[in-house]
Amino acid sequence: MSEGKRRIIVAGGGAAGLCAAVIAARNGAEVTVLEKNTFLGKKLSMTGNGRCNLTNLKIDGSYYNAAAKARMKAWLDKFGPLDTIDFFRSLGIVTMSEDGYVYPVSEQASSVVSALESELVRLGVKIVYNSQLKSIEHKDGEASYLVKTSEGLYDCDRVIVATGSLSGAKTTMSTGDGYYICKKLGMNVKDTFPALVGFKTADEDVMPAAGVRSMAEISFYLGEELLTSEKGEVQLLPDGISGIPVMQASREIIRFISENKPVYAVLDLYPDYDEGSFDRLIKEMLKLRDDRSIADLLSGFGNSNINEMILKRMKLSPSMKVSNISESMLTCIFENYRKLKFNIKESNGYQASQVTTGGISIGDINDDFSYDKDPGIYVVGELLDVDGRCGGYNLQFAWSSGYIAGSTASGK
Ligand SMILES: Cc1cc2nc3c(=O)[nH]c(=O)nc-3n(C[C@H](O)[C@H](O)[C@H](O)COP(=O)(O)OP(=O)(O)OC[C@H]3O[C@@H](n4cnc5c(N)ncnc54)[C@H](O)[C@@H]3O)c2cc1C
Repeated sequence: MSEGKRRIIVAGGGAAGLCAAVIAARNGAEVTVLEKNTFLGKKLSMTGNGRCNLTNLKIDGSYYNAAAKARMKAWLDKFGPLDTIDFFRSLGIVTMSEDGYVYPVSEQASSVVSALESELVRLGVKIVYNSQLKSIEHKDGEASYLVKTSEGLYDCDRVIVATGSLSGAKTTMSTGDGYYICKKLGMNVKDTFPALVGFKTADEDVMPAAGVRSMAEISFYLGEELLTSEKGEVQLLPDGISGIPVMQASREIIRFISENKPVYAVLDLYPDYDEGSFDRLIKEMLKLRDDRSIADLLSGFGNSNINEMILKRMKLSPSMKVSNISESMLTCIFENYRKLKFNIKESNGYQASQVTTGGISIGDINDDFSYDKDPGIYVVGELLDVDGRCGGYNLQFAWSSGYIAGSTASGK
């Protein structure tokens, strides 16, 4: 190591990299942030629909993928949601909680990016824009590294790789560079898939012509096997399904879909009714079997776009008189509200996804996020094979990994 301050390169100025850089600089290191984009925190500024769901007070390993589950406790014990709230308070960001979901009071993700950037400037961190990390080489016989970028070479004592995943709009520069760079260093890369994403269905002809949102339970099956179920506001679109419950489920089913396995979804629009109470409800509805049209009868039973879709699926005209429909056919119409089936064709892809599942194997990573074969190199954030549910869990992992790597890389 050079005399004096420890020189740390942080590659990637997103959530994890910015947190690592602030902590390392606060600990007295000489920090340089290399950012491929022309500004910092592009993806961070898009989070939580622009409100930035920073973290979640209800958290444990079960909110993360199977590989990460067992190790998450140790990481959250070192830097968890309360530490995140304190950290942002120290940057001047006051937070609020909505049922455990934590947001800045400003409700502006841009304020989070500005606060991190101001702190870097205050601490004298060098920020290099338009700088793309290309490779990292361990200098022979020295405990230091040569970092190659699109705009030059850097010498340093520690490197923190925080270049993110493949998810999000192209303007975020989420091109997955870190996978290749880390692979060249000998790290294992688990297959990647888009997650927290919606799906295209193979039922275009029987999807609602206009998009519609409805509270429902959605269950995904592979053949007869139930893969996962989620409740919440499901979005039905002319070509597919989305919404928070679908996105949450996507992490569990994406691998099967990528292997072209026959996955289908079943939507229950009356999830709070048990079988008995739903049967009683149908019986009540059957008493209304008079001269009104079926569209009229269904208008109080479901959203008009969904009613239209169900009638289309059953090849029934909306103007058909209820009195002309048999009781068994009517029962069948009502039962459809509990078992609407959608055949899943494909995901909406990395561009539309919020996170990437897969990435650098955490089996290669020590508890302080250093690479076990070369502990002067750290890997943090979504580049790792760690992904969480929607609700602040992915940013919490970015802060936790960034904090821990920033602290240890700077020798604290
Ligand atoms: C639309 C959307 C909404 C989201 N909302 C939430 C939310 O509310 N709550 C939540 O917890 N999670 C949310 N997420 C997920 C969350 O944003 C990510 O998990 C998190 O940003 C990952 O942080 P990161 O630092 O690992 O990667 P990023 O934030 O993607 O940062 C990586 C940085 O590295 C830079 N970079 C890439 N390659 C190179 C290179 N070769 N050299 C130099 N720099 C490079 C990129 O330009 C980028 O600035 C959302 C994601 C999306 C897309």
